[in-house]
This record gives sequence, structure tokens and C-alpha cells, in this order.
Amino acid sequence: MSNDCYSTETYNMEETMDFANKLAGNASPGSLYCLVGDLGCGKTVFAKGFAEGLGVSECVNSPTFTIMQTYSGMIMPFYHFDVYRISDVSEMYELGYEEYFFGDGVCLVEWADLIEELIPSDAIHIHIEKDIDKGFDYRKITVRGGGRA
Ligand code: ADP
Ligand code: MG
Repeated sequence: MSNDCYSTETYNMEETMDFANKLAGNASPGSLYCLVGDLGCGKTVFAKGFAEGLGVSECVNSPTFTIMQTYSGMIMPFYHFDVYRISDVSEMYELGYEEYFFGDGVCLVEWADLIEELIPSDAIHIHIEKDIDKGFDYRKITVRGGGRA
């Protein structure tokens, strides 16, 4: 897998979903996508578009009451994590996260920086940033690894 780093800019949520949708085309079983960025920057929006790209037909929302939500994609499962509320990485062990991170599907982790020590070195990193000077709905999305959308 290539380890290049590049950025794209979006000006509304549809563009972010579209970009994520296309990027999902490069995913394979065992791929892990780490999403990092402030609250409200668009991680869940990205996850929705990404799920669409995997052929998930259900509506993807933030897994508020659980750390992880499973969806079935067209050719492999999609595991959507949001680790914002975990107080300790031991909760990830209780969940049996390894079965998902090193499993048969694609994982996407919102707030992945909070569980940094559990992230394998070949993970794909996605950083979403706002820049208010460029508009309220502007986002810069930087991808490291994972190929081009
Ligand atoms: P997070 O999961 O990072 O906390 P959400 O995805 O839940 O954030 O929310 C992002 C919010 O920002 C949504 O209300 C969305 O409509 C809005 N938004 C505005 N512009 C964009 C954009 N370019 N990309 C993604 N979301 C955007
Ligand atoms: Mg979210």
C-alpha cells in the first residue's frame, strides 16, 4: 500500500461524502482508517460517505451508546468505531477490538488519536481540519496511506 500523503479541500458536506465514497474504493479486508479532527469537523459525515462507497445500505450514524457499530457492505463488513467516550484503552480490549482491526472487514475509527497505542503502523490516517477564513463549510482533508480517491 502506498504511503503517500495528500490533501483535498471540500466546501460542503456532500463533497466530503463524495470524497470518502471514492476513497472507500481502495479499501480491502483488514484496512483500518483512522479519523482525527475536532468535534463537528465532519468525521461522521466522512464515515457516511465511506460506508456508501462500501455498499452499506443502512444509514450510518455516530455509534453513541456503543463504541462500535457493524454494518454489512457489498463485499465485506464495515466496522464503525467512535472512541470519543472511552475512558481507558482497556474498553477496547473488552470489546475484542483485535478481531475487527485484524479481521475480515474495513474499520473506520473516529477519534483514533485517543487510542494511538492500539493503532497498527500500516493504518491509513485521515485528518480533517476547518479553516474559518475559507468559509464555515470549508474542510481540508489530509490522507496518509490508502491511495488516491
Ligand atoms: P464529527 O463526527 O467530526 O464530530 P460530524 O460529521 O458529526 O462531525 O458533523 C460535521 C458537521 O459539519 C455536520 O453538521 C455537517 O453538515 C457540517 N459540515 C459543513 N461543511 C462540511 C464539510 N465540508 N464536510 C463535512 N461536514 C461539513
Ligand atoms: Mg462523529
